Amino acid sequence: MFAVIRAIRNRMSDFLLTGDPRNIKVRNQYVEGLHKKKAEVANQIGANSCPKCGGGLLARKGKYGESKGCNNYIKCRFTITS
Ligand SMILES: [Zn+2]
Repeated sequence: MFAVIRAIRNRMSDFLLTGDPRNIKVRNQYVEGLHKKKAEVANQIGANSCPKCGGGLLARKGKYGESKGCNNYIKCRFTITS
């Protein structure tokens, strides 16, 4: 999920470098939206609440270190590594 955000942001920064000034407002709104969304997700994760389905997050220890996963696993596959 965060990899997707990163990919979008990388593509956005290419776009920003060649941006048309007429698009500044649209672009700012878009970037602001991304930041808001990210902050929201971070808040929900901080409160151990799944941003995808609203379920609870459980701490897990996996081979990639500690992570949190949704307790509705299988139905919801949200996980995040810390
Ligand atoms: Zn979930």
